[in-house]
Amino acid sequence: MIKKLILLPLILISESLWANGNTGGMDGGGGGTLPAYPVSASEVREFAEMAKSKLYYLLNGYEDPDAHLSTIPLQKKLFGGPRKAQEVLNDLRLEVRENAPCLTSNGTEVDASIHALKPNTICLSADRISKKIDKAMVEREVLALLMHEVAHFMGADEAEATELQQDIAWRIMNSDSGDAINEEKLRDEISYFFWNLAGGIEAVEAGNFVDANMRLDLALFRLTTWEGEAVGKSYVYKLYGNRESNYLSLLRIKVVKANEYIKSLIPGPDQEKNKIRYELPFEGRDYFLNSDDSFDTDPYADEKIMKLKSSQDALNLLKELEKEYAVRQVFTQQTAFGMRAPMLNGHLTIPTQNPWENFVGTYAVQSVQCDVENGFNKEVEFQVYKADDKLYFKRATASSSGSDAIVFGAYHVNTFVTNYGKTSDGGAFMTNENGGSWSSRGFGDTRFSEVRLKTNSDKTFELTQVYKYLPQDVSKTDFVQTCVYKGIVQ
Ligand SMILES: [Zn+2]
Repeated sequence: MIKKLILLPLILISESLWANGNTGGMDGGGGGTLPAYPVSASEVREFAEMAKSKLYYLLNGYEDPDAHLSTIPLQKKLFGGPRKAQEVLNDLRLEVRENAPCLTSNGTEVDASIHALKPNTICLSADRISKKIDKAMVEREVLALLMHEVAHFMGADEAEATELQQDIAWRIMNSDSGDAINEEKLRDEISYFFWNLAGGIEAVEAGNFVDANMRLDLALFRLTTWEGEAVGKSYVYKLYGNRESNYLSLLRIKVVKANEYIKSLIPGPDQEKNKIRYELPFEGRDYFLNSDDSFDTDPYADEKIMKLKSSQDALNLLKELEKEYAVRQVFTQQTAFGMRAPMLNGHLTIPTQNPWENFVGTYAVQSVQCDVENGFNKEVEFQVYKADDKLYFKRATASSSGSDAIVFGAYHVNTFVTNYGKTSDGGAFMTNENGGSWSSRGFGDTRFSEVRLKTNSDKTFELTQVYKYLPQDVSKTDFVQTCVYKGIVQ
């Protein structure tokens, strides 16, 4: 309470500083009130560099559940197009100037701008901001200002960008520190969840349903704290977007019902009662719908929850669910580190076949051509192979068996492969990325690679490898190289 009383007058100053006093909204010039508790330019930099994941959470919280149908232009621009603001943010880079202003397209000095040294980059003048902002509100105002620029990248005009900026500042002001997502706690809860889920699966396999039920109870408890941590208390910050949140509810119901079914297998005085509880929503059918509310906007409302008929059914379901949650675990880790996260927009529980399965083999290189030489493209062989039910991709050079193999995830993505699929010419592709172009947690520089492979009927192949090194410091030169390897499939 005390905190809010102190904050309020500062906000008023900030409003007049940022919004009313300037022509260009927050990225305009001006300002004239000296801060009482000044902040250094390096502190502003620190906040900005840590901001990417928070911006992501704030966008999730801001997104209207029906943004694509929304009549509000800003919602449409941010979330209704082919690429949502969260996706665009994923690729944005940051240039913080500690001793210089940012510039608009016509050269006006401003606090922040979408015109930076490199494209797809937000310029932020820590220098200018530190001179006009108070320590108590630096984080909020920097987040709001960065969001203003994100809005511009989504095609928002000045009025809309300023509106978003003010909304975001207001939302942050009206939440408390407990609302922010605690990433450490989140990671702990997820680990405990997996540990218990795996224990539950093992116990079902061993036919020990008492143990399985106990472990699944614990897993569900952890899942509740995981989900709670992912939305804070006020929904200002949300780890998941709307569609994904709906999908997670669907997954949860499946875990709950699997656990109830396991419980109904335990002999004893409660068995009959547990059976009735499990069977109740099915009303004699083989399934029930995720939601029977016809006004439900949940895209997964019509998903069927199938009735389990044996412990083997339950086991299969739990194993599928484990894979689904594993993808969310990767997503959470990547997002928390400000790294490029796979876009989770929910999906149905149909494991798609990995097209790389069709490319198991050894690829002997006969020629390589790169657009930029760096002496590192000495691969003599590529391998796609299966071991322990997993699919691997490996590069090998003449002097060594090459770097460690990249393992594909059981579902779409994991920490090594962020995306994969078919190419339009019948080949397969995969991408992986380490680090993030906007993160100060030791992952600042981005190393991105994309591999595309296609084979021909005469047993020849063509493998294209695009490699990008994007330093966090955008004043340094990016390195981008494309190499095409040709040879024989063995
Ligand atoms: Zn603007």
